[in-house]
Amino acid sequence: MSDCLFCKIIAGEIPSSKVYEDDVCYAFNDIDPQAPTHFLVIPKAHIASCGEITPENSAVVAHCFEVIVKICKELGVESYRIVNNCGDQAGQTVKHLHFHVLAGRDMTWPP
Ligand code: 5GP
Ligand code: ZN
Repeated sequence: MSDCLFCKIIAGEIPSSKVYEDDVCYAFNDIDPQAPTHFLVIPKAHIASCGEITPENSAVVAHCFEVIVKICKELGVESYRIVNNCGDQAGQTVKHLHFHVLAGRDMTWPP
């Protein structure tokens, strides 16, 4: 999608600190980290939000979670929080599905 920030990051039009990449997804460090470890995992296909996951595209979500586990193992991170903000009230600012992975500090609940 031409006017999507994360599509531009995937295309290399906007620089990012890459953590991982394969044919299906891309992972990169958040520009405004909220924990010592804070990276985002995004599908390469433009899906606007969690609310647009369907039986046709849900395999990429499962793949994103497999990648999160793989990255965390490689980083030696054993405890982490995965966050998805879906919609404006939940705090979604970029309308391209992304999973935040935060680690390296105590987390509070409720968030
Ligand atoms: P949201 O608020 O939509 O759940 O999360 C969007 C995230 O994208 C935020 O944590 C924000 O810091 C991050 N972000 C926004 N613009 C950029 C950017 O240009 N580069 C990177 N690496 N992260 C970004
Ligand atoms: Zn996009």
